[in-house]
Amino acid sequence: MNHTNSERLYTEALQHIVGGVNSPSRSFKAVGGGAPVFMKRAQGAYFWDVDDNKYIDYLAAYGPIITGHAHPHITKAITKAAENGTLYGTPTELEIQLARMLKEAIPSMDKVRFVNSGTEAVMTTIRVARAYTKRNKIIKFAGCYHGHSDLVLVAAGSGPSTLGIPDSAGIPMSIAHEVITVPFNNLETLKAALEKWGDDVAAVMVEPIVGNFGMVMPKEGFLEGLCKLAHDYGALVIYDEVITAFRFHYGSAQTFSGLANHEAIQPDLTALGKIIGGGLPIGAYGGRKHIMEQVAPLGPAYQAGTMAGNPASISAGIACLEVLQQPGVYEEMDRLAALLTEGIQASADRHGIPLTINRIRGSFSAHFCDHPVTNYDEAQDTDSEAFAAFFRHMLSQGINLAPSKYEAWFITTAHTEQDVEQTIAAAEESFRRMSAN
Ligand code: PMP
Repeated sequence: MNHTNSERLYTEALQHIVGGVNSPSRSFKAVGGGAPVFMKRAQGAYFWDVDDNKYIDYLAAYGPIITGHAHPHITKAITKAAENGTLYGTPTELEIQLARMLKEAIPSMDKVRFVNSGTEAVMTTIRVARAYTKRNKIIKFAGCYHGHSDLVLVAAGSGPSTLGIPDSAGIPMSIAHEVITVPFNNLETLKAALEKWGDDVAAVMVEPIVGNFGMVMPKEGFLEGLCKLAHDYGALVIYDEVITAFRFHYGSAQTFSGLANHEAIQPDLTALGKIIGGGLPIGAYGGRKHIMEQVAPLGPAYQAGTMAGNPASISAGIACLEVLQQPGVYEEMDRLAALLTEGIQASADRHGIPLTINRIRGSFSAHFCDHPVTNYDEAQDTDSEAFAAFFRHMLSQGINLAPSKYEAWFITTAHTEQDVEQTIAAAEESFRRMSAN
């Protein structure tokens, strides 16, 4: 496969754009470096790059593109919005429509506010929780990604319950000290952290089903225990559902049939993004009425946005949710993902390559290891070189994955059984090449 034009564009991009990419996860740094592939067109489940190579896409733009690229219903909605003006700076009826759709699907949200990204949504839920509780600290879970605002970039911390160490330069220790990071799926360390700092913890923030160190389900009782512990200590529970909302069913993790005890796992605040914008920039947050009333103009917690609720993003979001309301769409993504993961697993097994696949309906992760992946430590303890080799072999056969062992694969409503078969064949060839080395 020839990538001459991608290489040329990468050299040019490096002159003008820092690192040649507008988000670090797009670089190929984690898979051996070199030019990332520059795409020029996307349609349905496929990409075409600037060298006219075709790919089956499982990146889905890191999650939003659940209906496939350029879905005609969404494209039409965006075109209509553009013709009527893309940005008003006034309220519009469309915003009410999408807010209503979100509330109906996610009942813990009495009130909603639209923003422009998942980062903004999460950042604001933390501010609102602090305003409401009049406390400062947050507890988060190692390896959960919540965007790039200062507080949530504090991720690591070698032992459990250590006070955070920034994962990025430019974050003052004074801010890092407001964050406590504990391991996912471990209630004891959460309890210990709350015992120690509980009277100043504003919120416990979690991806209720993790999408950022592979797909990882909470263990039975984990979310129930998390909600109970947080509330016992007077802290709020924030669910970051930027990846998970509308991912597994028409609703969010809070009402997903894969999780039990829905009454016991309801959060106080929820952050949303990705799918709800149908491929245009969006974020949203919402929660209980009395908590959301902290937000300006009703309350003292300030949050605003020139672009927030713009008609183009909102129209795309409504259209995307309309597609997802069609009967059978989630069942079909589930079916195809099951076929695909069974095929890949069987192929890896045949070649003696250890592979742990975590699948949740149409989304899954494939870690090169021979142990389960239930937390960040286990996700880190996997073979990065094997992933990099697999990624390169798949790419060379026209399969586009995220260039990181921590990212999920996403089946969309556009994928077909033929795509799945082609991908299994490419995986078989990749494993063959890997085991021949
Ligand atoms: N939260 C989660 C769970 C995410 O996966 C992401 C992005 N991958 C974000 C927040 C940040 O969203 P955005 O990139 O739209 O700012």
